[in-house]
Amino acid sequence: MQDEQLTDGATTARFPDFPADAEYGLLINGQSVPAMDGSTFACVDPFEDREWGVVASGSAADVDLAVSSARAAFERWRSVSPGNRARILLRWAALIEQHAEELARLQVHENGKTITEMQGASLGTAAAASFYASLAANMHGETFESPLPRHRAWTVREPIGVVGAITPWNNPLVLLSWKLFPALAAGNTIVIKPSEVTPLSTLRLAQLGLEAGLPDGVVNVVMGAGAAGKALAEHPDVDKLAFTGSTATGRAIALAGAARFAHVTLELGGKGPHIVFPDANLDRAVEGLVTGLTAGTGQACNAGSRVLVHADIHDEVIERVGRRLSELRVGDPLDPETEIGPLASRPQLAKVTSYFDISREEGHRLVTGGQRASGDAALERGLFVEPTLYAGVDNRSRLAQEEIFGPVGAAMSFTTDEEAVRLANDIPYGLTAGFWTKDVDRVHRLSGQLRAGTVWVNTWRVGGLQLPFGGMKASGVGREMGLNALDAYTETKSVWLGLDS
Ligand code: ADP
Repeated sequence: MQDEQLTDGATTARFPDFPADAEYGLLINGQSVPAMDGSTFACVDPFEDREWGVVASGSAADVDLAVSSARAAFERWRSVSPGNRARILLRWAALIEQHAEELARLQVHENGKTITEMQGASLGTAAAASFYASLAANMHGETFESPLPRHRAWTVREPIGVVGAITPWNNPLVLLSWKLFPALAAGNTIVIKPSEVTPLSTLRLAQLGLEAGLPDGVVNVVMGAGAAGKALAEHPDVDKLAFTGSTATGRAIALAGAARFAHVTLELGGKGPHIVFPDANLDRAVEGLVTGLTAGTGQACNAGSRVLVHADIHDEVIERVGRRLSELRVGDPLDPETEIGPLASRPQLAKVTSYFDISREEGHRLVTGGQRASGDAALERGLFVEPTLYAGVDNRSRLAQEEIFGPVGAAMSFTTDEEAVRLANDIPYGLTAGFWTKDVDRVHRLSGQLRAGTVWVNTWRVGGLQLPFGGMKASGVGREMGLNALDAYTETKSVWLGLDS
């Protein structure tokens, strides 16, 4: 594989800054080290379907070493004043901004998301570092008018200890930033197990942290597959687990944490209902639906993958969305003109195309797409599928109920608000939901009735660090971001002081 890469040169041509034969060690206690058993794995560029990089593949023994290193660093890091922790995070934010293009290109090379989206993601990661720095600088407990005579009472917030963060490939740095920076801001240390699809963007981010002045051992990165994640989740000396990924893996991690009463935050799957009422601004609604279906090539937990359209406007809206989907520019994610890139990995391609077969068997009406992209050698080589929409879908079908994680929509119609809410909530997930209407009563009623951690009205897929993000039901436990984000990375201690007089 390596020889083929070097001789035909395609990888080196697109990414001269990341030579295909470069070696990357685990980051443990500030050092780059090989895996103890010497194993390695390769990344796969999804546009070229081509392997690159020689990445150390950690096992349980490496995880154990990384956790020991984080434990050893904990007492020192927690005693750094919050203001000084904030200073390091701010220096880190500045370095991320300086390296934003490099981090964006690295993520495109790993997961095939468009350069435009990944440039935004790099800046979003820097913004998160600054945001959590400001929370660190403002960390505080509370004092109370004493409930008892001759006593004083107050609370303090203390870091939990060693955090184990297990992260996915679809937005590797942003989704990590919601764990890493609040954990560090609050005085915890961390071991990160990035997805095996996107290991190197996380490694680079951590290296920038060292440059910013992080003491050794505060941030450790163990690359590897699910077994390394499992070892981290089950490690007895990890006090808090923070995970974003599939619901099935989230359940395994929650069970591992429960065995020792570890703190757990989980951000899991979604199958967002995206509802359009006849009084909506249909031009904007159609664009919102297209974004909901295709942002990140549909590989997003906050995708609007169930499209619910009122019967009066159903045919028109479906026709317009189908047309827009078929017109999207599919291509090289490094090209700023590209609107939709490849899927991130070979397993993901196999999964998404399996739903084309399932949809044929279930008998849904194909509006557009429904196959791998073709007609161009580059598209046929890469891990591409056509943006796809099915209509007339039964909400109980697999197409409507299961998270596909690709640009594949399941559309259905409804006639009353009650029916729309019933269909929207009839799903195990509850991460995001949205609707388009100008009726202010409906805005209040439905935003209360929809069972989702985030509800978007007349917009889709917007977010900000000030607002909490997370799911109900099988979409997760706890919230990330928000002004109270450090609560998820601290213990509250109540202190009572008895006075002699
Ligand atoms: P996907 O199937 O989309 O990759 P996963 O939830 O399996 O989603 O992966 C998210 C993260 O969880 C990755 O870093 C992966 O390596 C890790 N992982 C996979 N299986 C396990 C497991 N059993 N325990 C802990 N982490 C795991």
